[in-house]
Amino acid sequence: MPHTKKHGVQVLDHGDTAGDPSAFSVLDDAPGPSSTGTGTRAARWLIGFALAALVVANGWLIVKSRRHVIEQTHAVNTNLARAVSEQVELSLAQVDQLLDTVVEELERADVTSDSLLRLQPVLVNHVARTEQLSGMFVYDAKGAWIATSEAKWDSSFNDAQAAYFVHHRESQSALARVGAPVRSRSSDEWVIPVSRRINDAEGRFAGVALATLSVDYYSRLLGRFNLGEGAITLTIASHYVARHPSIVTNVGQPATVLNPFVGPAGSGFGSSVSPIDGVDRFFSFERARSHPSLVIVAAGREQVLAAWRTSSWLQSLWVLLLCLALAIGLRLIQLNLRYRIRAEEGLRDAHDALAKANVQLQRIARLDSMTGLPNRGTFDRRFERAFRSSQREQEPLSIIMVDVDHFKQFNDTYGHVKGDNCLIRVAAALRTVVRRPEDLVARYGGEEMALMLRQTGAAGAASVAEAARRAVRDLAIEHAGSPLGRVTVSLGVASLIPGRDHARTDLLMSADAALYDAKRLGRDRVHVAGWDSPTLSPVHEHLQR
Ligand code: GH3
Ligand code: MG
Ligand code: MG
Repeated sequence: MPHTKKHGVQVLDHGDTAGDPSAFSVLDDAPGPSSTGTGTRAARWLIGFALAALVVANGWLIVKSRRHVIEQTHAVNTNLARAVSEQVELSLAQVDQLLDTVVEELERADVTSDSLLRLQPVLVNHVARTEQLSGMFVYDAKGAWIATSEAKWDSSFNDAQAAYFVHHRESQSALARVGAPVRSRSSDEWVIPVSRRINDAEGRFAGVALATLSVDYYSRLLGRFNLGEGAITLTIASHYVARHPSIVTNVGQPATVLNPFVGPAGSGFGSSVSPIDGVDRFFSFERARSHPSLVIVAAGREQVLAAWRTSSWLQSLWVLLLCLALAIGLRLIQLNLRYRIRAEEGLRDAHDALAKANVQLQRIARLDSMTGLPNRGTFDRRFERAFRSSQREQEPLSIIMVDVDHFKQFNDTYGHVKGDNCLIRVAAALRTVVRRPEDLVARYGGEEMALMLRQTGAAGAASVAEAARRAVRDLAIEHAGSPLGRVTVSLGVASLIPGRDHARTDLLMSADAALYDAKRLGRDRVHVAGWDSPTLSPVHEHLQR
């Protein structure tokens, strides 16, 4: 059975057997619409997941970089606070050292007018050489001014009620006391008092040595740093000393407002809205270990986060564009896929239509269009095959030739259209008498039809022929032009077990001759080739009944 394959369509050539539509395998290897749909869905989920992951990763990076920026800010703030705090501590320690030498000198030599006279230039010298030092003073046990670095001094001046004086008189401690900023009575500038107790030889309170530190020095110290929106604040003994940017009115004011933010720890960091100027800041603070000073360095939150914000926006914009591009790409792929599926479906439909048309064509080629019986070509092919098979198997094969009697007359009487109808009915009647699938009723030509019966001998064929004759007769189609009054057929039967020397034409010619005999003997009858007389045949006997 030869077959061809073209463009994925497998067409099986069945010869004259009916084409089987199931034999057309269309695009077997192409993915079906459902599997493509699943694929698209999976791709959509996958890309959706990738986009979500991208967005989450972007968010995570932004949060992480914000944390990093804040950590960096805290580190920078803490370092600066520590550096400034150490600078302040150093300036205080240096002055403490000077006080120490003055007190030591006085305690060793007792406070006499001589020793005081010698002390005077020493104090002047200390003040001149120490930048942060504004003045140095010595008071006796009653609070009277007994020595000073000042050029002019008022001996009537008494500081017995001052906080530092009361502290040293009450406390045995030899440690220096660092006080909150006060306005100097001599110069009217803001100063930080650093003082120490002086004892007499018996260890009794003998007076106080006082050094005043210039607040201006600390203002200049803090002013050296460029902080942008940031701020740096120094408090001593819980009072404002200096701030950059400067707030002059704050100097000497209690700084208790800062306590909730800095807490009691030695150092730390955090973020809050400044109670001083209302700016939101990240801050770090550092307390000196040996003195009650506190340095707070703060950076403006807006300034710190501005660069991070810009880069985060840009990064998010890129991610958004990327997501958009991916989504558009996916949509295009999807559309393309849908278009392909449609095209494939169209192709499949076209193939189906083609296959149907093919079957139809084969039918047309095989059948006679008027009667619907297999045509002459089909008869010839089937007959050839059957003949060879019968030859091989040594089985009997019979041919019955059928011819409508006086048909010319029928046409003449009733016209060709009626003639055609008559032939159609005769064909249908003949079809009723063969039942085995391998039997064949064909239109042989004109008003002649042929029956081929396999594995059937003369007797069997004669009986089928007789049945056919009766079937036509029983149609009772009126035929005024026939002496028999109705449409009848004559049938010539030939039967043969084909031998080697036999040809198909032998059987056909035999059947034809038998038909001729049937006509000659009066029509509407069966004549079997080789039988002497139709009147002696079983057919004839049957006819008589
Ligand atoms: P006989 O009994 O000897 O067979 O007489 P007859 O008139 O049938 O003679 P013949 O077989 O020679 O005539 C056949 C006629 O059948 C000739 C033709 O006009 C007619 N015929 C053949 N084919 C068709 C057809 O398809 N349609 C119609 N209407 N007539 C046909
Ligand atoms: Mg004829
Ligand atoms: Mg005829």
